[in-house]
Amino acid sequence: SSLEETLLGSIRTIPDYPKPGVQFRDITTLLGNARAFRRAVDELVHPYAGTKVEQVAGIEARGFILGGAVAHQLSAGFVPIRKKGKLPHHTVRIAYSLEYGIDEMEMHEDAVKPGQTVILVDDLLATGGTAEAAIKLLRQMGAEVVAACFVIDLPDLGGRAKLEGMDVTVRTLVSYE
Ligand code: 5GP
Repeated sequence: SSLEETLLGSIRTIPDYPKPGVQFRDITTLLGNARAFRRAVDELVHPYAGTKVEQVAGIEARGFILGGAVAHQLSAGFVPIRKKGKLPHHTVRIAYSLEYGIDEMEMHEDAVKPGQTVILVDDLLATGGTAEAAIKLLRQMGAEVVAACFVIDLPDLGGRAKLEGMDVTVRTLVSYE
């Protein structure tokens, strides 16, 4: 079957989670499906095979699972971008807005070297606020952010335009209108 059928067929939609009116796209079913997981990772990796990607940055927590697999396949390093207070060494931190209120994410200040080429990986692109903050952190440390890659796009929420406005290439595998 096609890539889109395999991925869409393995992503579960949970109505009214985490609150009424939200259709949560649950990728645990994709991760638990060996064929779908492999195809998703292969497809995220494909454009960068044979190119110079030195680090893969993943956003906690689902971006760790996908990003770790992508990093391994590209023989790149992995950089965790975490909720504040989780990393043990000196960090750089950035605040970003959620639907209600703000949160902060951070990365180790020595996780990327100036000029290193990095791709950012997360499961889903909605408003783009989370990825925007991660890209700002990476750039603050001198990284060259080659692309931001997601399994799922929610195009109605405008994330792609937000990231493209920061001169980042955006790659997504499937979308839900
Ligand atoms: P954004 O910052 O683009 O508005 O939201 C994207 C972030 O929220 C990602 O880190 C993503 O994991 C999480 N997220 C928001 N909605 C969903 C959803 O329906 N399913 C999943 N799996 N993650 C979501």
